[in-house]
Amino acid sequence: MPRVVVVGAGIAGLAAARRLRSTCPVDVEILVLEASSRVGGKLRREQVAGCWVDVGAEAMLARRPEGLAAAREVGLAEDLIYPLTTAALVRSRGANHRLPGRTLIGVPADLAAAAESGILSQASLELLRDEPSRSPIRPLAQDISVGELVEQRFGAEVVDRLVDPLLGGVYAGRARELSLDATIPVLAARLRELGGSLLEAAATLTRPAATPSPVFASVRGGLSRLVEELAADVEVRTSTTVRELHRRATGFRLVYGSADSPAAMDADAVLLATPAAKTAALLREIAPAAAAELAAIDTASMAIITMAFRASDLGDGLPDGSGLLIPAVEPLEVKAMTFTSQKWPGIGQDEGLVLMRASLGRAGEAMALQREDAELVSLVRAELATVAGVAAEPVDSHVQRWGGALPQYRVGHLDRVRRIRAAVGDTSGLAVCGASYDGVGIPACIASAHTAADLIAGGLAGSAQWKYGDR
Ligand SMILES: Cc1cc2nc3c(=O)[nH]c(=O)nc-3n(C[C@H](O)[C@H](O)[C@H](O)COP(=O)(O)OP(=O)(O)OC[C@H]3O[C@@H](n4cnc5c(N)ncnc54)[C@H](O)[C@@H]3O)c2cc1C
Repeated sequence: MPRVVVVGAGIAGLAAARRLRSTCPVDVEILVLEASSRVGGKLRREQVAGCWVDVGAEAMLARRPEGLAAAREVGLAEDLIYPLTTAALVRSRGANHRLPGRTLIGVPADLAAAAESGILSQASLELLRDEPSRSPIRPLAQDISVGELVEQRFGAEVVDRLVDPLLGGVYAGRARELSLDATIPVLAARLRELGGSLLEAAATLTRPAATPSPVFASVRGGLSRLVEELAADVEVRTSTTVRELHRRATGFRLVYGSADSPAAMDADAVLLATPAAKTAALLREIAPAAAAELAAIDTASMAIITMAFRASDLGDGLPDGSGLLIPAVEPLEVKAMTFTSQKWPGIGQDEGLVLMRASLGRAGEAMALQREDAELVSLVRAELATVAGVAAEPVDSHVQRWGGALPQYRVGHLDRVRRIRAAVGDTSGLAVCGASYDGVGIPACIASAHTAADLIAGGLAGSAQWKYGDR
């Protein structure tokens, strides 16, 4: 029986393994090798004051099908939960404001909503109002950073106070460095084709749906249950670091285990579902061009600090809403707070607790994380006091560090991904997937996993030569 080894048991590796198992037309042995002692990668849950909470990814986009479908397939349909509120706040000039109702990941789509939020100055609102009558954007010939485009049309303040906290929040990056093509592809496609007004393009792309449906979903007991359930169905070896990957006359040899006493294993096909730097290291010998491109993908490091308070200690409680975004131009270090017990059902409410989490760390700001856990907790407490007037002592807290966690999709990212896939595709039986390619969100990671798994399955089922380009 041919053997497929999947390297990495994050959502991508596990989704790929499951896809192979359920759709591969020939019988295969599927083995997932995972370096850490647990599965899930950036999906991980912990107990804080006795309540299960996600300390990595906590929500999946429900407007794409892949995340919800994966949850249903592993028997979590009844446990899907949706936010109690999606009303978010943005900190601006020392006050909390409602996020404007209609934006495209922070790019304003509605002048009245932007004005009502109170976030923007009169001068910015005038730029927004006049933008559709200014000379139109010429159809974009090439990729541009989201920040550069928005600044040209709406001015710097809109980038700093809306786009950076929203778009930058997803990537832990900066809007002026993130690729339009890779991070807001619908807007890029429209502007490439038609050019025109940014405000009008954003308005068209954010038209309210005829039947509103939840934008995000999670799972009761923690979104991380999704990876736990996916892993239950496939053979995963944890604490098994793959160190080298070599080509053999047919198939591959993987060297794994500790540096002192490595072991080797052969495989007919290999699927790498590891972060870019690790994938680069593994491909150095067999796909050097892909390795060089992967090594050039920067990442941002983050920390998630979760705290639990007794509801009775909080007086007026936390500000209304699902959370607070804090632009980098504000004099605070935390970049976002999620008011977990206000956002999701069943987290602390029955226990008389209020849970919240704060995230710290943007691309290029790893220094902010060079502190002891206790210092990070104190920092979050101090900033929570500033933004929400909360002086209470938490009953429990948890600090989760995520080093090099989020790949930065810089201008030209999609071309880079095409070059990586072309180079990987030159080696039959090899595929890559995960957050470094087509999107960092959970549905996008699952989609890239399915594409990679289908390639492997197609190759095992038939032709000797098969690659990304064949699809
Ligand atoms: C703090 C944080 C919050 C986030 N919030 C959200 C959110 O709310 N919603 C959302 O959709 N997305 C969110 N994301 C993004 C999303 O979680 C990730 O992009 C996604 O989970 C990445 O999945 P992956 O399988 O590609 O990689 P990973 O989760 O990084 O998994 C890769 C796995 O490979 C293993 N590995 C690495 N090297 C080796 C090796 N040599 N041998 C064997 N194994 C190896 C690693 O240990 C890891 O388990 C968040 C990310 C972070 C960091």
